Amino acid sequence: MSNAEPQLTANFIRQMVAADVQENKHHGKVATRFPPEPNGYLHIGHAKSICLNFGIALENNGTCNLRFDDTNPEKESLEFMQSIETDVSWLGFAWTNKFHASDYFEQLYQYAVQLIEQGDAYIDDLTAEQMRLYRGTLTEAGKDSPNRHRPVAESLDLFARMRAGEFTDGQYVLRAKIDMASPNVNMRDPIIYRIRHVHHQRTGDAWCIYPMYDYTHCISDALEGITHSLCTLEFEDHRPLYDWVLDKLQTPTHPQQTEFARLQLEYTIVSKRKLAQLVTENHVNGWDDPRMPTLAGLRRAGVTPAAIRDFCERIGVTKKDAWIEMAVLENCIREDLNENAPRAMAVLKPLRVVIENYPADLVEQLHIPCHPQKPELGSRQVNFAKEIFIEADDFALIPPPKFKRLIEGGEVRLRGSYVIKCNQVIQDEEGNISELRCSYDPNTLGKNPEGRKVSGVIHWVAVADSLPAQLRLYDRLFCLPHPDSEENFLAALNPDSLEILDDCRVEASLATAQVGDGFQFERTGYFCLDEDSNCEKLVFNRTVTLRDTWTK
Ligand code: ATP
Ligand code: MG
Repeated sequence: MSNAEPQLTANFIRQMVAADVQENKHHGKVATRFPPEPNGYLHIGHAKSICLNFGIALENNGTCNLRFDDTNPEKESLEFMQSIETDVSWLGFAWTNKFHASDYFEQLYQYAVQLIEQGDAYIDDLTAEQMRLYRGTLTEAGKDSPNRHRPVAESLDLFARMRAGEFTDGQYVLRAKIDMASPNVNMRDPIIYRIRHVHHQRTGDAWCIYPMYDYTHCISDALEGITHSLCTLEFEDHRPLYDWVLDKLQTPTHPQQTEFARLQLEYTIVSKRKLAQLVTENHVNGWDDPRMPTLAGLRRAGVTPAAIRDFCERIGVTKKDAWIEMAVLENCIREDLNENAPRAMAVLKPLRVVIENYPADLVEQLHIPCHPQKPELGSRQVNFAKEIFIEADDFALIPPPKFKRLIEGGEVRLRGSYVIKCNQVIQDEEGNISELRCSYDPNTLGKNPEGRKVSGVIHWVAVADSLPAQLRLYDRLFCLPHPDSEENFLAALNPDSLEILDDCRVEASLATAQVGDGFQFERTGYFCLDEDSNCEKLVFNRTVTLRDTWTK
């Protein structure tokens, strides 16, 4: 990791864990886990959880497992599992063990048998609709199912036959016997097993009953000897169930569940279901589209893991839901790239300039520092010649007030090179500017001409010494801060989230760039070389603009 890691600030979880270690709770051990469900790619919200779980373990010489919560075979896939491993590693973390909830299917089944034997679980056959009616509401107690007192032997027999595949989906469920009058609806005899005749990507057709999340999660934590089970606030009301299951089963260890606020980031969406919809309905080009808040998308956009870790540290961990402005993430990305990305020149909309007093057969090899503040990054060779391209926008026939760039009869400095003067503007019949005729001042290489002040500096590339490139100008995916709260979040999509410029020219030094390398294109933005590049054309994605253009 080249970047200095951010200063750690206290938060309630760090303090709690430090106190536990101090008191020798859990024998002084710290064991966490990151438990994604492999039903989509990881997003920036997951990064918060990853940094927290792996971070707490690292800071306390503890362990952190990667555990796939794969209890919902219909929506899960190997592709998602692989992407999760790639993304966690890319973020810079190494798991102690890799487990799957499905590794525990047999143990989970045996524990369920134990609950039935203890009289703490029963088989029910109410329909989903009946079950809903019996459950009651937030203000009204529920009613006991007529099956609540089914004899243990009968429940055991039915459970075994559920496993053996004798019944159809939904015909029976296994429910924990807790309290139908509990003010907490999660405690009103929750379902812990259901019948699903579906193939599982890891266990194949070995099972046709699958355990529910709440039941699986606490037992998985206990089996792995997790000490601190960190999860998001929506599970606060599930904690009594988490503890109930572990208490009833007398598991060897009893992890402490602690909830924290999930990341809510403005101008984007961090719900896997909606992100999947963006992908399947082709609103974006896949899970790794640079506009996506997925780690794969951020990576492809050119965001570094250090910038994401910095962001996660800066937003902190609290118990209160809050919205984080997109500018916070963008500023972390900018600061990181400003500090670390080498500079290069790229002309987005090229305008040809012929330097009339420059010898036709001369090519000068100029050396421009790769980074203005980092001499250790060295310099790159940029060739100067008679014909160059400048940015069309850097010339104005009728200049607006305070225009510091090139005008007819005016002078401007070419970055790292000479001062040129515009002598003549060539226009076609329609008045479009096709070329500028300029002259250069040979005494101005690296210094200003005596007695004349040339304040404007523009970027350029030599015609013969530049490469064709496509620049993809990505912007925020949504144009409203809270797309998730819109009736239809798709209506909040930013119609200008991608502009493709096909006729750009970039300096020749970029020929050796590798996919994923990030650059600051001077005066233009931060860009990264995309995998779509080929020998005919380099493709660059804009990671972020040089300055915040959204905050008014
Ligand atoms: P989604 O609602 O997008 O499906 P999820 O919570 O169901 O998210 P999981 O794969 O189960 O997704 O999440 C794995 C871990 O990441 C969980 O511990 C979860 O709490 C955490 N996590 C998910 N989203 C966020 C978020 N926005 N902020 C912080 N942590 C998150
Ligand atoms: Mg989940």
